[in-house]
Amino acid sequence: MVDPEGRSVILVVEDEPSYQDALNVGLTVEGFVVVAAHSLAEARQLLMSSKPDLILLDVMLPDGSGVDFCREIHDSSTVPVIMVTARSSEVDVVLGLEIGAADYVTKPYRLRELVARIRAVLRRPASEAATDELITFGPLRMDLLRRAVSRDGVDIELSRKEFDLLALLASRLGQVVTREHCLDTLWWGLELSDTRTLDTHVKRLRQKIELDPADPKHLVTIRGVGFRLDQ
Ligand code: CA
Repeated sequence: MVDPEGRSVILVVEDEPSYQDALNVGLTVEGFVVVAAHSLAEARQLLMSSKPDLILLDVMLPDGSGVDFCREIHDSSTVPVIMVTARSSEVDVVLGLEIGAADYVTKPYRLRELVARIRAVLRRPASEAATDELITFGPLRMDLLRRAVSRDGVDIELSRKEFDLLALLASRLGQVVTREHCLDTLWWGLELSDTRTLDTHVKRLRQKIELDPADPKHLVTIRGVGFRLDQ
């Protein structure tokens, strides 16, 4: 939701008063509307009533884990989430569990850095996908709203990340998507050199969507550049 003055609404889920206060002031000065939640229970309520454009979500909350909440809302909502971690060990959890967070920051962070990340996430075309809700290529059909993929009418089970990768490629059907773009979009924060994760996901996707994964007809590798999804 954008408020009448065109400002983006940020739902700040944070139980530490010092952070909540600082964010309230800092983000308001930066031109955002801040909706404050101090627990997951409050966050659930405010998610419904305030329709935020973005959620800033602390990992450790008094009534549960932000990681679980992030997962929970991604099943029903497309609102992007920036996770706030207190320790670098939590970063591994956030990155490793494929919980659907758009980005993360580690405490202590600087407001300027956080605002830059918020703006970057808000600029991201999450609706790149939403513009075309159904994409078909060959015998495959992708329903972006239902997050469902089928081949000749038979549903294919994809992990969240596999789906996101396929959706990214499908948003540019017939065009090459570079490895860098895939990594930037789906594995924010991962070292560019560590591209095995991407290759693993491509391999698994092929096993699920291609008739002959060894000779892919749809998910094509463009050597040294990236991937292309073909009709
Ligand atoms: Ca906390």
